[in-house]
Amino acid sequence: MNRPALRKIPKIDLLMAEPLMAQACARYSYTTVKDCTQNFLNELRTEILSDKRDDVPPADQIVHEILRRVEHQEIFSLKRVINATGVVLHTNLGRAPLGKDAANHVARVAETYCNLEYDLYNGTRGSRYNHVEKLLCDITGAEAAIVVNNNVGAVFLMLNTFASGKKVAVSRGELVEIGGSFRVPEIMALSGAILDEVGTTNKTHLSDYKKSLDNGSDVLFKVHTSNYRILGFTESVGLRELCALGHERNVMTIYDMGSGFLFPAEILGLPESEHLSRSITRSGADLISFSGDKLLGSAQAGIIIGKKEYIDKIRENQFTRMLRIDKLSLAALEFTLKNSLSPEQAKQNIPTLSMLAMSEAECRAFAETLEKSILRSTPRAETAIIPVTDEAGGGSLPCVSFPGAAVSVRLPGMEAETLAAMLRRRPLPIVARINRQSVLFSVRTLHDGDCEVIAEALADIAVQEV
Ligand SMILES: *Cc1c(COP(=O)(O)O)cnc(C)c1O
Repeated sequence: MNRPALRKIPKIDLLMAEPLMAQACARYSYTTVKDCTQNFLNELRTEILSDKRDDVPPADQIVHEILRRVEHQEIFSLKRVINATGVVLHTNLGRAPLGKDAANHVARVAETYCNLEYDLYNGTRGSRYNHVEKLLCDITGAEAAIVVNNNVGAVFLMLNTFASGKKVAVSRGELVEIGGSFRVPEIMALSGAILDEVGTTNKTHLSDYKKSLDNGSDVLFKVHTSNYRILGFTESVGLRELCALGHERNVMTIYDMGSGFLFPAEILGLPESEHLSRSITRSGADLISFSGDKLLGSAQAGIIIGKKEYIDKIRENQFTRMLRIDKLSLAALEFTLKNSLSPEQAKQNIPTLSMLAMSEAECRAFAETLEKSILRSTPRAETAIIPVTDEAGGGSLPCVSFPGAAVSVRLPGMEAETLAAMLRRRPLPIVARINRQSVLFSVRTLHDGDCEVIAEALADIAVQEV
């Protein structure tokens, strides 16, 4: 902790007294400017402590940077928020956070021009799809891969390319709706595929699929039931078994895996399951699709892997042009995939995985730090550290709970709903849950510097209300 640069970080009150800062306070609001300042100073501190920086910029440069951020916060509708819900892939909060290094890489690619569709070696036209295909093949063991706008798009393309006008067998237990807008039967209908429902809601046997093939089905389609489980008397046909049937009868097997997790489950401290396994890609399925921004921890994308002849056909489909991936997402995806070559590297560098891998003890220690910050800034806050059950979210791992910790906070004389609303409406919004008349800050989903922002926000709100 003995880093001399730490002592050079300016005091917040001195910075706030600078004439330019006072002007900004008049134009925007005191809170906006102070939040941005606090944030910036926290970042400086973190960078010094992690040896990413060994000196502090001069005061005028600091002021300049803070003012730039103040303007940014005020004018944009879409902006950064602090996620204190403990839901790691929060669908309403942008699913997977990219992390600083990936975001910097995206910014560099976006800033001027890039070789999105240009072959630099030959000076000829290139393909956007070539930037990540090899990485995906190396990681998954697949023969070929293509990346499109999102996983619903990927599912649509697989069905439209190979099952349009054909009968497709799907288990009744897998005709799901995900995220409120993706409904398997409707997407199938739009793709031109003719749905042949097999089995029942809770039980589907291999013989049900066989019957469907006997009655003229041409494709076997399996969907991961991402956001729910049927409990009790259930039976479904595993992917491997289904693929074996497909091979035997010489029909294609297509699998919508939903969340894409390519490592052994142990890296998250979870028991092995069919979903959490790289062996999925060795199951024999002809095509598999998954999301880029669920457990893979990257940007919004739909990834399709499988045999080269099939991927080539998908490339030629005009709908692929309509659903093509954007250069920014592609940049993020390449960065994430490069960091997914080994489980250890992934756990360290991909924020989604680091957060999910946090143990209960680590969460508790983090909660203690947050509680101390809160009590220091707002002595009249009533706090407690409580165990919570965090979630992966985003339709991933619906039955796996992640034991974590939260700080529950009450400001005497203020309803929890009021406090939560004031936190949400700040220039740097804080989204937290309410439990038994307290606001709960789950620490699993917090990032560096968020503790100080939360503590400052509570202090501001407490002062305003007195
Ligand atoms: C999440 C999910 C989708 C939708 O993926 P997006 O990337 O959000 O389009 C489709 N199928 C399954 C099984 C899913 O879990």
